[in-house]
Amino acid sequence: MQKNIMVFLENTKNGFADVSLELLCKAKSLAEILGSKVIGLAVGHNLTGLEKLGVYGADKVVYIEDEELKLYRSLPYSKAVISAIKFYKPYIVLFGATHVGRDLAPRVASNLRVGLTADCTELKIGEYKVGDKIYKDQLLQIRPAWGGNIIATIVSPESIPSMATVREGVMAIEGVDEKRVAEVERFQVQFSASDLVTEIIEQYEEEKKVDLKKARIIIGAGMGAANETTMEMIFELASLIKAEVGGSRPLVDAGFLSRDRQIGQTGVTVRPNLYIACGISGQIQHLAGIMDAKRIIAINKDKDAPIFQVAHYKIVGDLMDVLPIMIQGYKEALKYTEK
Ligand SMILES: Cc1cc2nc3c(=O)[nH]c(=O)nc-3n(C[C@H](O)[C@H](O)[C@H](O)COP(=O)(O)OP(=O)(O)OC[C@H]3O[C@@H](n4cnc5c(N)ncnc54)[C@H](O)[C@@H]3O)c2cc1C
Repeated sequence: MQKNIMVFLENTKNGFADVSLELLCKAKSLAEILGSKVIGLAVGHNLTGLEKLGVYGADKVVYIEDEELKLYRSLPYSKAVISAIKFYKPYIVLFGATHVGRDLAPRVASNLRVGLTADCTELKIGEYKVGDKIYKDQLLQIRPAWGGNIIATIVSPESIPSMATVREGVMAIEGVDEKRVAEVERFQVQFSASDLVTEIIEQYEEEKKVDLKKARIIIGAGMGAANETTMEMIFELASLIKAEVGGSRPLVDAGFLSRDRQIGQTGVTVRPNLYIACGISGQIQHLAGIMDAKRIIAINKDKDAPIFQVAHYKIVGDLMDVLPIMIQGYKEALKYTEK
């Protein structure tokens, strides 16, 4: 049996969702271990450039084209994906944990009576042993559990395919090969009136105001920065060093930052070159979002704050003292470099 990996490709107004491309790259590396192929599953109407998904690792793209699939609707999309899974019999199916993926994947899993792990932060191939029984080539679906206090590895050895959703930004875009081209194969699905009971009258998409995922420098603000004066200093420093501002969940909950700036397990996963953690204690749920930052500077007045265990540069001090020094320092440095 060929253990192929299928990736649901979510189409958006601006092309395929980043998470779909990230998942193709991850699927490629897992398929190499399994000696299998990566199948992208594109569902929509008038989609173009499907062969280019080979660049990210798709060997084949199965395209279900129908005018009824122009915009996402739960019932026809579920039917399309279920039909393709039944026909192509993949060993693993991956979805982005987007609004669409979170609606679609459980419908598909429950129809096929297979396991589904939501919001994985890592995927691996490995063995699973119960007593004397060894299940080989299992999809190890790794994610924080119990409020982030443990990292659980979940397997569904008795059901095929194994299915998982993964949040945007968690997997890296890597192993890209500009010369690789995917084979595109059309697949037909017939819809009945009962699949089309909902009608989309108007679609409204809110533009993203911040894109933390693409930021090279991020200043992360925590509850230690939860006052207007400190937040103003953080934004001033950010504009000086061309950084984006993100923050911890309680700071967002307290209304100091918008929800799209929340970093961590239930926010965005970021991978900047530099992350400056200002007044962040460093709880596991926050760290889950910054573990791929190349360099971390932490500023905290508590020398024992857990953030210092992951920081590359540690500044023990009060933000009210440290931030003005940094701002002044960068202003001086900029004057020097502008000369
Ligand atoms: C299921 C679940 C999901 C969660 N998801 C997320 C998530 O996605 N993202 C997230 O961030 N959290 C998340 N949390 C919350 C998480 O557990 C922590 O509560 C949170 O990260 C703590 O935020 P904080 O570091 O800003 O605040 P605190 O833990 O209160 O830390 C504030 C820090 O600031 C320091 N400080 C205070 N004043 C100053 C000052 N003047 N100068 C310098 N330092 C100062 C303190 O020493 C302290 O270390 C989640 C929790 C649960 C249960």
